[in-house]
Parts: sequence; structure tokens; C-alpha cells
Amino acid sequence: MYKLIDGKAHAAAMRREIACGVAEYRRKYGRDIGLAVVFVGDNSASKVYVRNKIKACEEAGVKSFAYYLPATATQSEVEELVKSLAVDKSVDGILVQLPLPAGLNADAVLSLIPVEKDVDGFSESNIGSLCMNKPCLVACTPNGVMRMLRREGIEIKGKRAVVIGRSNIVGKPMAMLLLNADATVTVCHSRTQNLKEICLSADIVVAAIGRAKFITADMIKEGAVVVDVGMNRDEDGKLCGDVDFANVKDKCSYITPVPGGVGPMTITMLLYNTLAAAERSVGL
Ligand code: NAP
Repeated sequence: MYKLIDGKAHAAAMRREIACGVAEYRRKYGRDIGLAVVFVGDNSASKVYVRNKIKACEEAGVKSFAYYLPATATQSEVEELVKSLAVDKSVDGILVQLPLPAGLNADAVLSLIPVEKDVDGFSESNIGSLCMNKPCLVACTPNGVMRMLRREGIEIKGKRAVVIGRSNIVGKPMAMLLLNADATVTVCHSRTQNLKEICLSADIVVAAIGRAKFITADMIKEGAVVVDVGMNRDEDGKLCGDVDFANVKDKCSYITPVPGGVGPMTITMLLYNTLAAAERSVGL
């Protein structure tokens, strides 16, 4: 019998802890913790994400500063805004909502976020520190996965982990986190051969592909832990993951659902990183 990893419950518990940390910080240092969110254009899915992030900040007692720029904003207008936030003492974390409208250079904008305010953990410096297993701000989604695995008491050390997907924001940092936790890690991608055999060898499978129900039951070993990062629409337009949940679940020891698995942890880890950035700024 599998155990469902309830991301909503883990996220709620963690958000309560974070809210306590935020209140404690305000008491001790007499100032609010601030997160600046920069949103350019009118991508409707991104708008929903930004709204959810701002709401989560309010609930945790983090002050949010939202900047909405039109799709016509120039590279230098976006860069000037980020530069001003970089030196703003009331801002502990800066998040630039991606993707930026076509024609804007996202890398150039992101490179202006100081490493200590990079609460998305996307900067080369934070990724480099993660690879060297040094303290840093870690990308929210993979860090949320690690938190859930730990909170469930799932053993990682010595296990064989397979990460499917090698994006800079999910797959690669996920693999690094598992490696840092002493798993033996294989990273797969669209050119991987024998994907099924590799997956079948895994004690822990993390799917971060972006293809609905791609991971099927014949790819999963009995008793494996399966984490589904994917967020897709199925043929009926319903939200679903990269894992064929209905058929895979009975082979697993643990599995995350979609929705209600990894998703709720992502914004939680953004709050966590913002608190961590504020604490680091006062030497904690
Ligand atoms: P991405 O940048 O598109 O990366 C997808 C990865 O999957 C790539 O490395 C790609 O390989 C690999 N891939 C594609 N087809 C494959 C195949 N047939 N076999 C093996 N590997 C294959 O996507 P992402 O940003 O990492 O996101 C992945 C999924 O997670 C998406 O569904 C996204 O919506 C979801 N997501 C969820 C959250 C959350 O909070 N729950 C956060 C972020 C992302 P190549 O490198 O060879 O192209």
C-alpha cells in the first residue's frame, strides 16, 4: 500500500513555522522582511503565480512589493528597476517572474540580482555553491521536494535516485540536492537511451519533464518513491503530472499527487528563502 505525500499539509506546516520566524525577526530587528516581485507583460498564467506568491507573503507576514511593468517595457527600464531593488534595504529578496516577454534578455536582468537576494536560487553563484555543497539559496521547487522527502522520513543516503529532466531550475538542482544527500544519482533527458531500464533501477524517481502521464507503471520498481514535479493538462484539460498516477501508485511506497504534491511546496520555499535571506543579512 502506497503512502500519498500530502504536499498541501507539509506546505501548511512549514508556512506556520516560517510565519513564526518572520514574526520573531520583526520583534528582534524592528523591521519587516520584504520580497520584491517584478512582473513584466501580461502572461495570464504568470499573473496567477504572482498573485499566489503575494497572497502567500501576506499570510506569512512578509511584506511584498509588486512591480507591474507593461509588455512594452524596455530592457533598460527592467534593469533599472532591478538595480534599484538590489540596493533597497527594505527588500530582502528579489524575484523576476519568468518568462519575460520576447525581446527582453532574462539572463541580463537576472544577473543584476545580488546573490544574497536571489530567492529563486537561479544565479550562477547560488547554483555553483549548491554544486559545491556550500550554504546558499536553493531553487524553490527542488528544495521543496527535498523538504517533503525529509519530513516524510524517507531515507536518501545510499539510495539510487533517477531524475528525469535537466533544466537549470528543476532537474539539475534536484540532482545536486540528492547527490549532496548521498544518493547515487542518474540524470535523464530527451536523448537518454534505455530510460525505462534506468528508471526501473531507481529507489527514488523524480519526474520533471513536462509531458502528461509520461512515466508509466512498467518503468517503476516495486516499492519506489515517486515524486512528480510535472504540471500538465491531460486530454480533458485537467491538471496532471508527468506520472501516470492511477497506474503507478500501487507500485510505490510513496508518491506525490498532482495537484497537491510538489506545487504547494514551491511557494513555501520562496517564503523560506526570503526569511533565510533576511536572516543572513543580519549575520544569522
Ligand atoms: P523544461 O525546462 O522544459 O525541461 C524538461 C526536461 O525534460 C528537459 O531536460 C528535457 O530534456 C526532458 N525531457 C523532455 N522530453 C523527454 C523525454 N521524452 N524523455 C526524457 N526526458 C525528456 O521543464 P522544467 O521547467 O524543468 O519543468 C518540468 C515540469 O515541471 C513542467 O511540467 C513544469 O510545468 C513543471 N514545474 C512544476 C513546478 C511546481 O512548482 N510544481 C515548478 C517548475 C516546473 P532535454 O534537456 O534533452 O530537452
